[in-house]
Amino acid sequence: MPKQTDKKKGNRDIFSLLLENSEKRGENQRTQLLKSLKVKEFFKEGSISINDRTCQGLECELCIKACPTQALYWQDGKIGIVKDLCVYCGSCVLSCIVDDCIKVTREREDGKVESFTTPRGVVLLFKAINSQRRYFRIESLFPTPETYIKRYRK
Ligand code: SF4
Ligand code: SF4
Repeated sequence: MPKQTDKKKGNRDIFSLLLENSEKRGENQRTQLLKSLKVKEFFKEGSISINDRTCQGLECELCIKACPTQALYWQDGKIGIVKDLCVYCGSCVLSCIVDDCIKVTREREDGKVESFTTPRGVVLLFKAINSQRRYFRIESLFPTPETYIKRYRK
């Protein structure tokens, strides 16, 4: 007869297995949905939330129009989110007429976390990302004396 502790351990394993399977199913479903929309995923993880108390709802709906994956919809007097469709692009925050109404947080593959709640926040983030890209591009085109020596020394 199995010991009580083994039984408990067995139960826990079954639950974690079920959880793992449902997570995998969810991931596959998301991949298929985004593939059908031809949308590429750039972030490892992310989250989105909308503050129902400050949202202007029916009079606005700009976020719904701005979303490239149709992850947002209007239902029962508020904005609904299909979280599996959100790619954390920030278009909804950029178009929202109320500051701090939508909050998007996303994590890049290198572990860097970005979070924004206002159009200004999105613009500043994009500006910083573009400056960094430009810097790396210029650095690769015009190497410093040290990298130049390293690159061309035999
Ligand atoms: S972050 Fe992008 S994909 Fe997600 S709901 Fe907003 S607009 Fe849609
Ligand atoms: S854009 Fe902002 S205020 Fe307008 S409906 Fe969407 S969340 Fe609400």
